[in-house]
Amino acid sequence: MSLLSKNKISQLDNVDIEVFKDVDLSKYSTMKLSSHGDLVKVRSLIALQDLLKVFLDEQIPYRVIGWGANFILPKEPDFVLIKLDLPFDKNSINDQENEFSLSATAPLNVLSSIASKYGLSGWEVFTGVPASLGGAIAMNAGTSLGEIGELIKDVTVLSSTGMIKKIDIDKNSFSYRKNNFLNEGDIIVEATIFHKGIDPTVAETIKTYLQKRTESQPLREKTCGCMFKNTITQINGNSVTCRAGQYIDIMGLKGLSWGQMRISPKHANFMENKGSSNSDEVKKLVAIALEELEFHYGVKFETEVHLP
Ligand SMILES: Cc1cc2nc3c(=O)[nH]c(=O)nc-3n(C[C@H](O)[C@H](O)[C@H](O)COP(=O)(O)OP(=O)(O)OC[C@H]3O[C@@H](n4cnc5c(N)ncnc54)[C@H](O)[C@@H]3O)c2cc1C
Repeated sequence: MSLLSKNKISQLDNVDIEVFKDVDLSKYSTMKLSSHGDLVKVRSLIALQDLLKVFLDEQIPYRVIGWGANFILPKEPDFVLIKLDLPFDKNSINDQENEFSLSATAPLNVLSSIASKYGLSGWEVFTGVPASLGGAIAMNAGTSLGEIGELIKDVTVLSSTGMIKKIDIDKNSFSYRKNNFLNEGDIIVEATIFHKGIDPTVAETIKTYLQKRTESQPLREKTCGCMFKNTITQINGNSVTCRAGQYIDIMGLKGLSWGQMRISPKHANFMENKGSSNSDEVKKLVAIALEELEFHYGVKFETEVHLP
């Protein structure tokens, strides 16, 4: 059932707001999970402020979605999805300046190709991560080359009460695959990202890393990237990194299915939606994998995605 009554929708009469009531949401996440609910597309900051005011007054719960590359959409979300469509001008990035204020909607793949073109050092860290800039900052997205948090100077956020605040980033702002500064309901609208100088080898680094990912990850399948965080445990007084994918592989669980969801035969930390799977099937397969991991290795892993 829709969370947006006729009355509430009429309050959202703004050219920069588009309301989709009780629609198929599967195309809004990279895992393409079966999901039905409400979504509002917003094209300007002023429109976003108007929208949040209505949501606050009417006590309508919401969550912002970027590319949905790390989003397990429930079958029937009990919140409205906000999809930002704020303008992003890729031509504002050049090799003359070393920091740029960019919209939260800036796609990381576009930033990667600009980094290749100009040799923007540091930007190789997010090679191959499917994401909007806002989603990548919220998740502190990263690869074995580093994390996006290392490159962010400040973040402009709209709070659920409609206040715009600029947050300066410091060494405590990010942890592994998460930020430590967003409050419930905060929406990143803009961020200042910098590079570490011009380095002509960046293009080659990006190319090689992309090739490596294509060979080892199921990039043509409907996934949300790595399902589990790697974890560090103490063995005989030494810190050891436990790689969830490696452990799942050793247990022989590649290809294990629940409904239409399966552990990827190509990369054991990925789960693939082989049809019109839903969040219940994801949760079940995750629970099985977590149980097996703990039983066989005595290690409690956490999911990288937030399960509904
Ligand atoms: C094939 C594949 C490979 C992947 N590889 C990697 C990888 O190597 N490294 C890695 O770190 N991740 C990886 N991921 C996961 C995913 O790409 C990252 O987590 C990415 O940061 C998600 O960005 P998004 O825009 O899709 O955010 P979403 O998935 O849409 O959202 C993720 C979270 O961020 C919040 N959010 C989104 N936008 C905003 C905003 N503007 N303001 C506030 N909060 C916001 C959402 O509410 C949600 O809680 C991969 C995913 C896939 C499908």
